[in-house]
Amino acid sequence: MIKVTIWNEFRHEQEIPAIAAIYPKGIHGQLAEALAAEDLEIRTATLDQPEHGLTDEVLQSTDVLVWWGHCAHALVRDDIVEKVHQRILEGMGLIVLHSGHFSKIFKRVTGCTCSLKWREAGEKCRLWNIAPTHPITQGIGEYFELPHEEMYGERFDIPEDGKVIFIGWFEGGNVFRSGVTFERGYGKVFYFQPGHESYPTYYDANVIKVIGNAIRWARPVFFRAHSAPNSPALEEIRSVDTAPHAAVLQNADGTNR
Ligand code: ZN
Repeated sequence: MIKVTIWNEFRHEQEIPAIAAIYPKGIHGQLAEALAAEDLEIRTATLDQPEHGLTDEVLQSTDVLVWWGHCAHALVRDDIVEKVHQRILEGMGLIVLHSGHFSKIFKRVTGCTCSLKWREAGEKCRLWNIAPTHPITQGIGEYFELPHEEMYGERFDIPEDGKVIFIGWFEGGNVFRSGVTFERGYGKVFYFQPGHESYPTYYDANVIKVIGNAIRWARPVFFRAHSAPNSPALEEIRSVDTAPHAAVLQNADGTNR
């Protein structure tokens, strides 16, 4: 079983009736329901729960964390972001959805501003599958379309080591790296663009398929704490430089050390 925690800031659904009508159980509730499968043990967590629902116990028993946030990124506690980051470096998978591109945790794992262009015009979006052999695109055709999405466009400020899985095209003319994977420490990270709160995107079968595939791809191979051990040589080192210039290092005050 893969232990999945779906995190949602859960503000729009409580504050805006039109969005509550689309996601009466919250985006997290819809994702949990749509992703339900025999190999997944799914629970949810939200911003307003104690410790945002991400206690040490929850993080220690999460294989893959799914993240949706938008208007309340700044309210996520830095010490909890730090714990999530450490857990990713140790092996936990992270799936960042839509406006999660500006979350503290995605900025942390990418080291970038994660800025992008956007436009809310309800336009058509076509996602091209450019990595057909990748585990995340299995069961997805050459492309799929969403009738209405918020436009996210380039330039998307993310690191160049991201592997692009989907390229998004928008009716208004923009393109976007809509699905990108990263590896950080022992953890795998996937960013996926669809999911604006005012459209029923998380009811779309292709979107759910991709997120489900990504969860299975990002499951940890193992968890391991990072350390920086001194490494004894495996063989005798015969070429050790014993000349004075190499052996004598000086302290700032001119004495040898
Ligand atoms: Zn949005």
